[in-house]
Amino acid sequence: MTSWRREPLRVAAAIVAAVAAVGAFRGSLTVAWHALRAVRFTYRTATFQRHRRCPDCGTKLWVDARLCLSCGHRLAPPP
Ligand SMILES: [Zn+2]
Repeated sequence: MTSWRREPLRVAAAIVAAVAAVGAFRGSLTVAWHALRAVRFTYRTATFQRHRRCPDCGTKLWVDARLCLSCGHRLAPPP
């Protein structure tokens, strides 16, 4: 008599468990995505520190470059 009454509860529990599993999976994906973005940001920050922009044409150059390869602008020596 009570078995058919408990069946919806089992279905509901299964749905809740599935939703929780999907949520945990998406949460882990979100964490991995943010971790990847953090790594990218750190890498780009470290990369930008090794470059500088030509004041004349804006080309990215090595920080110790003396001559712009794009426009020939002579750069001041790095500080
Ligand atoms: Zn230039």
